[in-house]
Amino acid sequence: MEFQNRKEPSLSEIDVAHHLHPFANTKEYREQGVRVITGGDGVYVIDSSGRRYLDAFAGLWCVNVGYGRREIADAVHAQMISLAYYNTFFGTTTEPTARLAERIVKLAGPDMSHVFFTNSGSEANDTWLRMARLYWTSKGMPNRKIVISRQNSYHGSTIAGASLGGMRHMHEQGDLPIPGIVHIGQPYWYAEGGGLMPDQFGILRARELEEKILELGPENVAAFVAEPVQGTGGVIVPPETYWPEILRICRKYDILLAVDEVITGFGRTGSWFGYQHYGLRPDFCSVAKGLSSGYQPIAAVIVSGRVADAMAHEGGVFQHGFTYSGHPCAAAAALANLNILEREDLVGKIQRDLGPYFAKALHSLNDLAIVGETQAIGLLGSVQLVLDKNKRLRFSKPSDIGMIVRNFCMERDLIVRASQDRILLAPAFVITHEQIDTIIATLRAVLIEIVAALS
Ligand code: PMP
Repeated sequence: MEFQNRKEPSLSEIDVAHHLHPFANTKEYREQGVRVITGGDGVYVIDSSGRRYLDAFAGLWCVNVGYGRREIADAVHAQMISLAYYNTFFGTTTEPTARLAERIVKLAGPDMSHVFFTNSGSEANDTWLRMARLYWTSKGMPNRKIVISRQNSYHGSTIAGASLGGMRHMHEQGDLPIPGIVHIGQPYWYAEGGGLMPDQFGILRARELEEKILELGPENVAAFVAEPVQGTGGVIVPPETYWPEILRICRKYDILLAVDEVITGFGRTGSWFGYQHYGLRPDFCSVAKGLSSGYQPIAAVIVSGRVADAMAHEGGVFQHGFTYSGHPCAAAAALANLNILEREDLVGKIQRDLGPYFAKALHSLNDLAIVGETQAIGLLGSVQLVLDKNKRLRFSKPSDIGMIVRNFCMERDLIVRASQDRILLAPAFVITHEQIDTIIATLRAVLIEIVAALS
């Protein structure tokens, strides 16, 4: 990669000299260089050496309609020429912004009435946190401030987002969480379920919410937040008993429910939203990635009618917003993306065909001794790596084994992600059966090779 006498530095060298990457160890990057991605087409990306990879992670679980959609580029181009930007602050809007809000609410179902636009999923979570507190203040209960979240959840990287998240390594950097955010256990049966059956464990973990509410006093609790399926934490599909019990508890104590659908929103589970899959009725739903399939940075909080009405009637000014809230070019990209999802019936295809096919292929890995469990929902999947399958014994350094598998896959031109000792898959919705077979066959070959090397 490095040529000492070269006059012109390579892009990789320029990058590591001047660019600080997210979630990166700068020292490592300086030593190893970075890969420069130059093109994308369907489910494939190409790097600067001309090498082509099957991207089984859709960028960062976002390029749901696949790479290279000219239709979205054309929509953004046309919008830039007619009106590149206008704000949504002082009683103004733009056409794509208004149309996108309407379109999202229609997909979200009858309980949802409004959309607040942000640029990122993190900002969406910051936004509903502030909105939830305003809601309770407007209802005459200003003490209802505390938000209950879960360990090993991911809700973004802003101060509030990282505090809402339950990632210990993030909390350790910088005295997080901020006050007013507390965490309960996660429904990760494989790692934490002990001798319980998954369904028993699901109930137990959901009841931690009730215990926490009673400990804090319901009069002090604003909301509970969760990803319908934990994403970054490991694509952890909760036991079936979990969500119904959470729902019962939220209703009993009149706690607002915020679902973080930054990954699951817009079809990834085979339903338009994960809360529809699980039959939840949230007050807030954070969305981002799949809204524009990553073609433009745009995110949002979808807000229930009851919260939006209270804010309108009793809330006064919501002291919150971003210069680019509802950016018309980003909104145009999102509208074009939704057109594609609907016209090609991509969500229906996941539900009927791709999801079941993907699940069956993924579960076929269970015959390997290193695979503890596989979980799949829609086009979201995970493989739990394990040292001793019978004892459910994990590797002593879970992140090492995950990275080894990830790097071996990369060597075979397959992009997957590792979260500790789980391998995560989230391909674009345009993936074919044949490409799913390639992903699973490659993963199988890699796992067999690693087991051989370890023994
Ligand atoms: N919530 C969830 C569930 C996410 O997966 C992510 C990003 N992976 C975020 C929030 C943060 O989104 P962003 O990176 O756009 O701020």
